[in-house]
Amino acid sequence: MKLIIANWKMYLGVKDSVRLAKNIVAGKNQVIVCPSFVAIPEVKKALGKGVKLGAQNVSWQESGALTGEVSAGMLVELGCRYVIVGHSERRRFLAESDFVVREKLKAVLAKKIIPILCVSDLSELKILNQLVINDLIVAYEPVWAIGTGKTPTMEEIADMHKKIRARAGKSIKKLLVIYGGSVEEKNLKNILALPEVDGVLIGGASTTLSSLKKILQ
Ligand code: PEP
Repeated sequence: MKLIIANWKMYLGVKDSVRLAKNIVAGKNQVIVCPSFVAIPEVKKALGKGVKLGAQNVSWQESGALTGEVSAGMLVELGCRYVIVGHSERRRFLAESDFVVREKLKAVLAKKIIPILCVSDLSELKILNQLVINDLIVAYEPVWAIGTGKTPTMEEIADMHKKIRARAGKSIKKLLVIYGGSVEEKNLKNILALPEVDGVLIGGASTTLSSLKKILQ
């Protein structure tokens, strides 16, 4: 069984998210859906049995005067068991630093949410130093592959997954390493067939009903 995480980014509002959510059936793979914050409550109601719910972002603080932020505790209230942390779009467009990503990880772990930590190279794993983690999903997402239609070769993907596991695995009880970056129906099978790869994080291709259905078949 492999893991398929759908990151709907800021593509879908409540209505479209619910429409997609209603069509997701948990098949042979485990599925986690990460809608926008506003759609989470309605998507939760619409999701079928066995499909898990995640968020795309979280605050590094538990509460306080932080206009517009959403805390890990609030995500727990909404029924989110997972959250994406350190996505390259946030690092790039919202100036999220390694320091902030590490603080977010700590906030999430304190509430027993499972982080989906996005890294584009091995150096970004240093934020894991000295953190005690039971469950972690690391998504290897080369920045140049996100939303570009380009992917590394299968050998490169396998090699990076091995390296990530070797570097991050020691202090983590349950580690899953997944690939993200222009995963589509046409390359999904080959990527999931790699024994080093525990699953995939899919952005664009998970946001339309026709391609999502093919991905989940
Ligand atoms: C992502 O959002 O993490 C991602 C991998 O996007 P895309 O599949 O569109 O490249």
